[in-house]
Amino acid sequence: MASTEKVTYNLCQGWGCHEHCLVETHVKDGKIDRVQKCLFPGKRPANDICMKGILSAKIPYAKDRILHPLKRVGERGEGKFEEISWDQALDEISAKIKESAEKYGPRSIMLNQFWCGYPGDWKSTQNDLIYRFAFAYDASILEYQAVDYGLTFGTAVVNGLFTVNSRRLPDDTGKEIIIWGGNPLGFTRPAASTHFLLDAQERGVKIVHISNLFDVTSARADQWVPVKSGTDAALALGMCNVLLEEGLYNADFLLEKTSAAYLVNTETGAYARAASLIEGASENDFAAADEQGKLGVVPHPMGQPFAGYGDLKPDLFASVEVNGVVYKTTMLLLKEFCQQWTPEKQEAATGVPAETCRQVAREYVANSPAIIYLYYGLRYPNAVQSNRAILTLALLAGNVGKKGGTIMLAGQGEQTTMFGMDQNVVRMPPNPRGMSERVTIETILEGFEDPTKQQHKVWLNCMGNPLLNWPNKDLWRRRILPNLDLFVSWEIRMTDTARYADYVLPETTTFERYETVCDTDNCVMYCEPAIEPLGEAKSGTWIFNEIAKRIGIEDDFSLSAEEWQQVRIDEGMKGKNAIVFDDEQNAIGSEPITFDKLKEKKVMRVEMPPYIPEDGLSMDMHTTTTGRFEFYSELLYNVGRPFGDLEPMEMLDEKKREEYPLQFYVGRHKYFMQGQFTNIEENHLLASKQFGVALNPIEAEKRGLVDGELVDVVNECGTMRVPLQLRDDIPVGMAHTWYSFDEKHYPGTCCPQDLMHAENTPERETAVMRAYYPSYAYINIEVLKTPQVMTHVAGPYTPEGLWDQLCDVRKISNEGEVA
Ligand code: SF4
Repeated sequence: MASTEKVTYNLCQGWGCHEHCLVETHVKDGKIDRVQKCLFPGKRPANDICMKGILSAKIPYAKDRILHPLKRVGERGEGKFEEISWDQALDEISAKIKESAEKYGPRSIMLNQFWCGYPGDWKSTQNDLIYRFAFAYDASILEYQAVDYGLTFGTAVVNGLFTVNSRRLPDDTGKEIIIWGGNPLGFTRPAASTHFLLDAQERGVKIVHISNLFDVTSARADQWVPVKSGTDAALALGMCNVLLEEGLYNADFLLEKTSAAYLVNTETGAYARAASLIEGASENDFAAADEQGKLGVVPHPMGQPFAGYGDLKPDLFASVEVNGVVYKTTMLLLKEFCQQWTPEKQEAATGVPAETCRQVAREYVANSPAIIYLYYGLRYPNAVQSNRAILTLALLAGNVGKKGGTIMLAGQGEQTTMFGMDQNVVRMPPNPRGMSERVTIETILEGFEDPTKQQHKVWLNCMGNPLLNWPNKDLWRRRILPNLDLFVSWEIRMTDTARYADYVLPETTTFERYETVCDTDNCVMYCEPAIEPLGEAKSGTWIFNEIAKRIGIEDDFSLSAEEWQQVRIDEGMKGKNAIVFDDEQNAIGSEPITFDKLKEKKVMRVEMPPYIPEDGLSMDMHTTTTGRFEFYSELLYNVGRPFGDLEPMEMLDEKKREEYPLQFYVGRHKYFMQGQFTNIEENHLLASKQFGVALNPIEAEKRGLVDGELVDVVNECGTMRVPLQLRDDIPVGMAHTWYSFDEKHYPGTCCPQDLMHAENTPERETAVMRAYYPSYAYINIEVLKTPQVMTHVAGPYTPEGLWDQLCDVRKISNEGEVA
């Protein structure tokens, strides 16, 4: 029989990252032969794929691929299942859903929209169908929980919005990029960030890397500034001190864009409302003063362009007394606050020499416009405060919202949603039964403890590997899973999460399903199945349709996966145009994006709006108190944090360090990332030398430990037994490990998450509980401005509870048994 060959475009199965790279899939005789990068229209060099992308061709054929519906036969977590038919699985699952809805109401059914780790994640059809199901049935959405909220919440305090990013990385950066905390060259999203940074460096842009570990990014940077873990706020405040003391701040920017000149009542900590100081002023307005102490009204922008200060020439450092009360500008208060943070004092906290602090601060201003690129790096309990302090520095320098000078939280691939489709065309059924409820862990636990509250008894995990990724796996194992009546997981392979499920449903890989993706490098892509689904694997769309049929919402789930793509493009991208290129890839015009056109071309480059330096910043639309950028927060004054400050953390606790002297620094391994596929053989080969715990040889010598031996990593939560690696690049005082390995790697002992869990330590329980506040906080910061919720954001423990633990590394006391 003649051999057949074909090429399709597919979303990279992703291995748990959310870059959404498109790959060209070469299929021979019905089997994937290889994948490679595909070319995008136009001349921009992009869409490189990484090693994991190349290896993704193997995922459908993995030995442990789940190919049939499974039903649990052992205890939850034991991993014992039997194969059953689809009909049996769907009938039994649907019956339990209906039973729960009748007994506890439809909101007792929770769907998991955890995006990281699911290819296409929050932009996938699957994610939209999860919402559709929740609206159609009035079920609940389980709130996304992650460990990198510090960035966004720090930003929300300053900006009132979740981001200060430019929509996309500028093509022509300024003169300097400070990468603060992250490791973009060595970690995730290599396709977008690596090009951007290396191209900029080639153009002469200086790259400074501030981080606690020496890594690939440090090696490539022009300057590496090592900083002790979790002390970044002190360095940022030391740099603010330099700018304030040496007059290096950008006064024009501060006046124009921030609340720096606004007066604050020093007795209450509140911004002075003009109505209380100036006759005839509105309740919404604020007050400033000139050098002579004359007061003037500063109108709240109310979402409009800032109207300015009228006749007043505001003094950034004004201090006035009215009726015995002293009012100072936030700029003056910041200067006073930063006086304690001399470069010398920050040196004591961070280990960064005072002179280096001065040099980096001065150059950051001299090289303006300059970018601070955070890249999800600061994942400590105090990350909110650290990021507020860093944003304060950027505001002082005026390096926010400029072409080539801004703050960036993430990489290019993430910043392109603005041209994407309107996902509501799938998410919202025509006649929703309800608006769904967003559920946090706290809500679930409250219900279990109080039967008068809404119960959450059924969990449909349709995306990702939450038991691996969420901050407290143990909380789920101990307190939530035992109380659930039904737990179903859609899976490709057996994950840490699936092992606890009652039913595991075999899902298609991205090589076996339809999808449309809006992402990387401004392109929209149409993906068709490269191969037939293996075994009995089915698309998420099919699974939803079948359950919907059995529970009475089939009218809202009547389309196939392919048909949904047409809806996503023809309705969701209505009115959007793509660039037309000639054979030499020169742009020669534009055309509407339609499903038929996309099906024919597979990839279309979306026409972007003209570059606006302030784009994404909504410069006059902040939902802060003043409607401006605020480095001073009156809400957080109430909880003792008017400015971003260095929060104490366990790792800075000298007393606790006497027993557990090492900082337990845990991160995600780049070959596992968000970790839906932590058991993939090829990834283990790529990462094999990195399993275990890494120590500096000085620390090992103190303990009589040698490279490669099995050691116990111990703290008050338990013991993890793993091989020791001696590495000169690990700072003294740190024990470094990756949390992304499957729990099977730690037989009979704890895994990294266990050493970070809340059991036995009420403070940690509190910390971890607070990890589940992000959505409340988000809503409240933006809409309600509720101080109690802000307390959770500003308190000593924030959602970043995962990385702040202490430990010791010891010789194993009794081989085979864990102490
Ligand atoms: S970065 Fe992620 S999505 Fe892109 S090729 Fe690599 S694994 Fe695939």
